[in-house]
Amino acid sequence: MKKYLKESAAKAGIELEEEKLEKFGTFYELLLETNKSFNLTAITEMQEVVLKHFVDSIMIEKCFSLSKEIEKQCCPIKRIADVGTGAGFPGIPLAILYPNIEFVLMDSLKKRLNFIETVLEKANIKNVTVVHGRAEDLGQNSNYREKFDMCVSRAVASLPVLLELCTPFVKVGGKFVSYKSELLKEELGQSKSALSILHCALERQYEYTIPDSDLYRVLAIFSKEKKLEKKYPRQAGKPKRNPL
Ligand code: SAM
Repeated sequence: MKKYLKESAAKAGIELEEEKLEKFGTFYELLLETNKSFNLTAITEMQEVVLKHFVDSIMIEKCFSLSKEIEKQCCPIKRIADVGTGAGFPGIPLAILYPNIEFVLMDSLKKRLNFIETVLEKANIKNVTVVHGRAEDLGQNSNYREKFDMCVSRAVASLPVLLELCTPFVKVGGKFVSYKSELLKEELGQSKSALSILHCALERQYEYTIPDSDLYRVLAIFSKEKKLEKKYPRQAGKPKRNPL
C-alpha cells in the first residue's frame, strides 16, 4: 500500500516521506479492520482506497502549496475544520500531510469519531481533535464559530446546504474548500442566493483527474468576505429541508 501511495501521490506532484507513509499505513489497516464490523466505507480494494480516499484528500496541496509555505515557516493557514469527516476524509490525510496545522474533525455520528480517535492514537497523529455534533449546532458555538482559517468538506451535502453548514466556521478572509465532481456546475447555479446571504464568493475552481484513473474531481474554493449574521446556520435540519 505504501509504495503504491507514494507513487500515486508523486504522479500528482505530491511528495510523501516515509514517516507520513507509515501513518497512512496504520490508517489503512485500521480502516479495513474496523470496516469488517462497522460500515466506514464502501471502498476497500487497496488501489481504490489509495486513489479515491488518500490521494483525492490531499489534492488540496495543488491549490495552496501549503507544504512549501510550512517549510518557509510562513503558512497563513493555522487551523482547518473538516465538516462531516466520516471515517476521516479529507481530514486525516491532510493532517498527516500538514503536521504543523491544527485540524478539528467534526461529525454527527459518534461511532465514526471513535474510529478516528483510535487512528489518531495508533498512528501517533498529534494535530487533530474530534468534535461530535451537528454542523448547525457547532457553527453557533463560540469555540468554533469563525475560528478557522479554512474549512474543508467532502461528500456531505449539495453546495447550497454545504455553504450554510461550513462557512460559519470560517474567519472573515478565510477559505471554504468543497470537494466536488461533475455536479459542481449545476450546484453552483443553485448557490447564488446562499453565497450572497453568507457573504461568500467563488474564488476559483481546481479541476483534476485522480492519478491512474479517469475520475474527474474539482475543488471549489470560496472566500468569506464579511461576518455572518447571527441567525446562520439555522437550526439542525433546516439547511437541508429548506436550502438558502
Ligand atoms: N467526508 C467523508 C468522506 O468524504 O468520505 C464522509 C462522507 S459521508 C457520505 C457524510 C458524513 O457527513 C457522515 O459521516 C455524516 O454523519 C456527516 N454529516 C452529515 N450531515 C451532517 C451535519 N449536519 N453535521 C455534521 N455531520 C454531518
